[in-house]
Amino acid sequence: MPLPGVAILGSTGSIGTTALRVLARHRDRFAVRAVTAHANATLLRTQVAQWAPPFVALVEGDADMPASWHRGAAALVEAATQPDVDIVLNAIVGAAGLDATLAALGAGKRVALANKESLVVGGALVADAAMRGGGTVVPVDSEHSAILQCLSGRDASAVRRVVITASGGPFREWPTDRVRGATVQDALKHPTWLMGRKITVDSASLANKALEVIEAHFLFGLGYDQIDVVVHPQSIVHSMVEFRDGSVLAQLGVPSMELPILYALSHPDRLEDAGIPAFDPVAASGLTFETVRHDAFPCLRLGIAAGRAGGAAPAVFNGANEQAVALFLDGRMPFGAIAEAIETALDRHAGLPGGARDALWHADAAARRTVKETFGC
Ligand code: NAD
Ligand code: MG
Repeated sequence: MPLPGVAILGSTGSIGTTALRVLARHRDRFAVRAVTAHANATLLRTQVAQWAPPFVALVEGDADMPASWHRGAAALVEAATQPDVDIVLNAIVGAAGLDATLAALGAGKRVALANKESLVVGGALVADAAMRGGGTVVPVDSEHSAILQCLSGRDASAVRRVVITASGGPFREWPTDRVRGATVQDALKHPTWLMGRKITVDSASLANKALEVIEAHFLFGLGYDQIDVVVHPQSIVHSMVEFRDGSVLAQLGVPSMELPILYALSHPDRLEDAGIPAFDPVAASGLTFETVRHDAFPCLRLGIAAGRAGGAAPAVFNGANEQAVALFLDGRMPFGAIAEAIETALDRHAGLPGGARDALWHADAAARRTVKETFGC
């Protein structure tokens, strides 16, 4: 039997490189059959030299790249549907990951999903593609991996609620006024996780937790009233599930994405892996929990409201956030304006129809345009 084939979309990013580190310890279990990157040709070349995958794509590739490499956004879908690929690790950042998720599920693959934006923008489409093509989604996000592990096969009918933990980000204890004026350097200093720039800013604004609430809604079929968020600064308890009888299960571990990535590849099995950081409860104590300061971090409420509204509203929330974060990282928008930009875009476009992919892309584009016109300088 050939080994299960893995495609890594976004192999040059934080999740992509972490996944290759994990896979290097499991070469006897999985074969890397495709890698894709956006523009980092140098790192992609190194990865190709190490792994020799049959399919390579560089979205922004040019004439200098090897002739065997594929380029353009369509190459992501090609990578995700290669016949010798069984598991697609989608580690692309942003709505740009949606089409590959849909294509992989439509082709019956397992999608190890880090790209939460796929579910936020097109949650219903993702469910539909999985049903039609026979594919399955296994989350890579640590909180959702925790919930999946706590559920251990039980469905939403056994669950009273889930509690998603949030580190609180670098501004957890900052006065609200100071948060509004935070610099890019401040926002990129995450207390517990080392990640790509976009998700690091999302973690500072708590927009990331809003994306994760919507992600949990679609992944586990839970109502928004069944999903709570609590701040847990140590990032040791990755999330909790409260069952109907009141019993609460939690999944714990040191903050490292290696475990949720490995678990998404091996689920429902568990593989021996001495490289995963060991957990020492004494070293990890004490664990604390706090309520979210919604006044300082309005993105969380805005995102949950968009999730509840449904239709195109989550796509508008996501598109506005992506555009606002890009402007913030460019030094063209203050941190506090990210939430204002999202609110403006939602006020104008949340009522747009959802449903089909084209309608969702239209809503995404409208949200980005509004943010640029209103706030970009
Ligand atoms: P990153 O910025 O480090 O990496 C992004 C990867 O996607 C890179 O390989 C890049 O080349 C590729 N990419 C970017 N734009 C693209 C485009 N338009 N088309 C095709 N490829 C593109 O990001 P990351 O931190 O690795 O995050 C990736 C995803 O995983 C995000 O959805 C994020 O929310 C999610 N996630 C990340 C972490 C983490 O610890 N980093 C944890 C949980 C979830
Ligand atoms: Mg997470």
